[in-house]
Amino acid sequence: MNFLHHERAALETFMPGLDAALADQPLERLESAPSPAIQAFRAAGGPGLLVPAEHGGSGATPLQAVRVQRAVGARCPSLAVATTMHHFSVAGLVRAADGSGPEGALLAAIARDNLLLASGFAEGRAGQNILKPHITAQRRGDVVVLNGSKMPCSLSRSMDLLTASVTMTDQDGVERLAVALIPAQSPGIEVRPFWRTPILAGAESDEVVLTDVEVDPGMVVLTEVTADAVPDALNVAGFLWFELLLTAGYLGVASALVERVLARPGSGADDPSPYLVDVEAAMLAVEAVARAMADEEWTDALLVAALTARYSAQDAIARTTRTCLAALGGMAFISSSEGSYLASAATGLTFHPPARGRMAGPLRDFLDGRPLRIG
Ligand SMILES: Cc1cc2nc3c(=O)[nH]c(=O)nc-3n(C[C@H](O)[C@H](O)[C@H](O)COP(=O)(O)OP(=O)(O)OC[C@H]3O[C@@H](n4cnc5c(N)ncnc54)[C@H](O)[C@@H]3O)c2cc1C
Repeated sequence: MNFLHHERAALETFMPGLDAALADQPLERLESAPSPAIQAFRAAGGPGLLVPAEHGGSGATPLQAVRVQRAVGARCPSLAVATTMHHFSVAGLVRAADGSGPEGALLAAIARDNLLLASGFAEGRAGQNILKPHITAQRRGDVVVLNGSKMPCSLSRSMDLLTASVTMTDQDGVERLAVALIPAQSPGIEVRPFWRTPILAGAESDEVVLTDVEVDPGMVVLTEVTADAVPDALNVAGFLWFELLLTAGYLGVASALVERVLARPGSGADDPSPYLVDVEAAMLAVEAVARAMADEEWTDALLVAALTARYSAQDAIARTTRTCLAALGGMAFISSSEGSYLASAATGLTFHPPARGRMAGPLRDFLDGRPLRIG
């Protein structure tokens, strides 16, 4: 069927065999922890997707990457969420690599050894600003010492490296957002159960506790972000990647439901547009921003475009999943939890930062000519 064919072709190009490996497993198995999907992703060379070719990776463009994420989400929602965290962390490393630091060697190791990066920004408190972490980084002699906790943190049980947002005081006494890169085996790192719902449990989004974890100062990148939460160029880039990869993955989850409707017996006579149009249009918006990333400057205006695509995808997902569940009917609902699982998992897009409600004031301010803040 000519649905998801571009996306599956991109997935096969960059991660040969992954689509078939995922299609071979029951959804319920893929979505429970520990999920075989994470090992299959490593085996297919997935970790190197955004590592530039000069460091031995696949060097996928934003457009190729969002197509891959949609295809992954259509087979395994948890893997799409988990790998969004990995890919956007890799993209951050690529952005930070200026030739003088350790980033180049790290990128090469990620591609060569299929290492997985987790990304800990959230700290388990509703209302917390994602750019104002409570985890502290203190300089002590020739090391930086980290203390605090990150939750939920996807890939917590499979990560090789953790990227974590921390607050660090600079030489002028100003508290700044910094991003620390920490080997998962470092003394003082502990993973504790946190995720209590079966929905997206395969993403391993548990709590990572850091107690007096020592890292080399070269592994902590200080950003320009202070208490006003205006993202600097590194954070604009990070959010751009994050919003697009995430949205594509969740559109993939909704697309899995669409695919079941299109493939059900007797559906050939149906008008397919009520199932197709919203998700396809939402993906086109994601692709438009991904294309712009290839040939336009990465400004806060482009980030607003990415957020627009994401929030409109949330609405598209809500409409499409409702329509699809109705089309599949009551007997499908009674006889298998797959349809309702996919509908519920696809709603997860709503819960990632920055939530739409939080961005109301910042978007209004941006429209009025002020710099974009992340709510
Ligand atoms: C599947 C999954 C995996 C995840 N994995 C990770 C991960 O690996 N790493 C990570 O860092 N995080 C991860 N997260 C966490 C996520 O990033 C969020 O930080 C977390 O879900 C935010 O929780 P919240 O919605 O309760 O908080 P909030 O974003 O604070 O929102 C709570 C509610 O209050 C409203 N609200 C809050 N503030 C305002 C305001 N100022 N104005 C108006 N309304 C407001 C929001 O709109 C929302 O309705 C994951 C989340 C999910 C769902």
